[in-house]
Amino acid sequence: MDHSISYKKTDCFCLKRRAYGKSSAVIHLLTREFGPMSLYHKGFFSKRSPYPAILDLGQETEVVMTFREERCFLKEASLKRSFNVSDHSGLTLMSFIFELLASIPQQTHLPFHQLYQDLADTLEGMTAGKGRFNLALRFQLRLLNILGMTGDVDHCSRCHKRFSKEEWAYAEPHCWNFFCASCPSPLHTAFRLSQSQRQCITSWFHSDRISPPLPHMNRSGVVQTQKHLNSIYEELYTLQSLSEYMRLLES
Ligand SMILES: [Zn+2]
Repeated sequence: MDHSISYKKTDCFCLKRRAYGKSSAVIHLLTREFGPMSLYHKGFFSKRSPYPAILDLGQETEVVMTFREERCFLKEASLKRSFNVSDHSGLTLMSFIFELLASIPQQTHLPFHQLYQDLADTLEGMTAGKGRFNLALRFQLRLLNILGMTGDVDHCSRCHKRFSKEEWAYAEPHCWNFFCASCPSPLHTAFRLSQSQRQCITSWFHSDRISPPLPHMNRSGVVQTQKHLNSIYEELYTLQSLSEYMRLLES
């Protein structure tokens, strides 16, 4: 019989906590080393447990985990930093981002170091309270890019021609692909990007950090882009926080 137990240590963000039984919990995490994963802990919500305060949304935590019978258990946790927002708008945006991340399938082998850094930067920017909707949009586009679901916004996805300065780029329905006006599309969407919006998105894709401040899209551009992203998510996930997020964005 094999009694060996392996321990692993990583930094993480808590995305979701689900109680089960009397006081146990499954905690869904985005870890720096291993991407999304779930940890079990018996007594997580018991009176004397320090963990609910340490492993909570909007906090970066260092965890030590053990692996048994193909499951992963929380051994220790210590708080690294808190990203505190107390206003409704900040909380809604953060909940939306955490729900989005909690929806990504586990056991996918993707470059999670970048996603982890993007999340930390986004939370830091949101805590500072500047350009929050732009930060949320940038985060979503970079996430789709990591998932291999975004295309280039500078070239037509059909004829591969580079969009000229005055040209609009038309979106394909439920996809992050764009085509030019000369390429007839069998389907039409209301969403299109101007040159300045394309430049903004391209710079979001190419800058790995959010400082120096990135170019911003105006509110109506953000709303239109978000609506198109929603049509992409519709095919993938059900996001409960999306309607509240949209209410806030459009108010
Ligand atoms: Zn074309």
